[in-house]
Amino acid sequence: MAHVITRPCCNDASCVEVCPVNCIHPTPDEPEFLTAEMLYIDPEACIDCGACIDECPVSAIFPDDQLEAKDEPYLQINADYFKDHDPDGGLVKPTRPPVMPEGKELHVAVVGAGPAAFYAAGELVKRGQVKVDMFDRLPTPYGLVRAGVSPDHAKTKGVENTFAATEKKANFTYHLNVDVGTHITHDELNARYGAILYAVGAPHDRRLNIPGEDLTGSFAATEFVAWYNGHPAYADRTFDLSGERAVVIGNGNVALDVARILLTDDAVLAATDIADYALDALKASSITEVVVLGRRGIEHAAFTNAEFLSLGDLDGIDIVIEEADLALSEGTEAALADDTLDSTIATKIRLAREFAARPRTEGNKRIVFRFLSSPLEILGDEHVTGLHCMQNSYAPSGAATPTSETFDLDASIVVRSVGYRGQPIPGLPFDRDRNVVPSDDARVTDGPDGPVLPGLYVAGWIRRGPTGGIGRNRFCGEEAAASILADFAAGSLPEPERSVDDVPELVASRGAERVDLDGWRRIDAAERAAGKTEGRRRVKLVTVDELVATARATEEAVG
Ligand code: NAP
Repeated sequence: MAHVITRPCCNDASCVEVCPVNCIHPTPDEPEFLTAEMLYIDPEACIDCGACIDECPVSAIFPDDQLEAKDEPYLQINADYFKDHDPDGGLVKPTRPPVMPEGKELHVAVVGAGPAAFYAAGELVKRGQVKVDMFDRLPTPYGLVRAGVSPDHAKTKGVENTFAATEKKANFTYHLNVDVGTHITHDELNARYGAILYAVGAPHDRRLNIPGEDLTGSFAATEFVAWYNGHPAYADRTFDLSGERAVVIGNGNVALDVARILLTDDAVLAATDIADYALDALKASSITEVVVLGRRGIEHAAFTNAEFLSLGDLDGIDIVIEEADLALSEGTEAALADDTLDSTIATKIRLAREFAARPRTEGNKRIVFRFLSSPLEILGDEHVTGLHCMQNSYAPSGAATPTSETFDLDASIVVRSVGYRGQPIPGLPFDRDRNVVPSDDARVTDGPDGPVLPGLYVAGWIRRGPTGGIGRNRFCGEEAAASILADFAAGSLPEPERSVDDVPELVASRGAERVDLDGWRRIDAAERAAGKTEGRRRVKLVTVDELVATARATEEAVG
């Protein structure tokens, strides 16, 4: 017997730390960790102790004899990883914490309340000498775990328990519903805090820059995701779902989230924490087919195997792939033939071929994958009517290149899911080529190779760009915390000019209706109570006014 890691794996590597035989890989000190889609258990080395099961924040690990049928493919997926990766990669190196200066306190401002911010804060508040004030412009914390993770991925939201353990520490303070830049400036933070960590993510969408992108019915996945997750800034958006076909451009995990949410059965969605208005709109939707368009072939598809595989479990939805559309580059074809292809890519190709061979069911909705297809123009006069595309093929070099063949797809909506984009932070340098704040070991630098600006740090997508999920952001946040603590220990942080005590009054004087921990607890309790009566995890409050009113309700509302 052995244990097996399955789909909701969040890569945060809590399991790695408790495994007594080092059978879970890649570990955070192995180079593959930076790009790993998930973690894998070596079936030859696992001793079935079960320590990883208790530690996993998203309940992704099972003994192999207790796997549900839908998770059985993970037996092979876990084992395959060890075909081309060395299971003797080192144990996680214990990092020696720096010695904190005696009798000194450090007050850190953390801007943003998503995973990178929380994992950094979690490391910082372990030191009694360090106090963390966390700022977020929304009245609710947890960033993309609340506003990005798909409502039908409830287990992934289990990481909120880790964040809740941090927020209740005595040396942690929330300043929610406070916009840094509006209610308090960067300079005002700088004058009060020994260190400022910006973990503000990458809030904007990337554009395609093709004709028709601004037609009604053409929109970014970032907006649609924020809308169905009840983000207050998107709650009043409407999307016309009256047509039958949607096209999603890009084939990352966000594209799969959008395709799934557009087609998932209403009854399934009704049991999630999806925003009520989105549920109503999706119930009335006529969309029956979503085409997911990748400009490269299956071997380069950006989605992870776990998310791809799980599409096959959706009731009433066929995954449609034409075998002829699965062309490989010459190099990949050869490596696959002699069994030297990277196991993650080999699995991707195998899963796609299995989907292509599946029988289809008359009357089912469809997610159709088209590969090697680039968008050229979104068609329509005022509203989207379709998409004009270029057929690509693999050149001998392995690059996807245009052919002379084009084709059109009829569609009533076109969703571009081509990645997120960071935005400049007033007062900080910005790398406009990469849309990140330049940094070195999380320390903000004055330009890409410039000198370090003491006391300023970044973590998460604003540091690295918009790739990697929760696990990657855990290590990014922890690296930032380690840099802050090392600089504090080395005495290289600037001395603040004034105390942080006036922050609540200062932000109130600029119109912020600040929400603190008690306020967030009232919101959380109210949402969970509303969810309980409907058999849902929570029913989200979706406007700032109702969130603030709930935060200010009487103490009795707190569960
Ligand atoms: P992503 O993984 O970077 O995918 C972006 C997609 O857009 C790629 O397919 C890319 O194709 C395509 N693209 C970019 N520019 C394009 C263009 N001009 N024309 C056509 N296609 C274009 O981004 P994402 O889906 O937004 O996800 C962001 C991160 O969040 C990823 O690390 C993802 O894994 C993570 N995430 C994880 C989960 C989960 O674990 N369940 C859920 C959501 C998001 P090329 O590859 O050819 O550039």
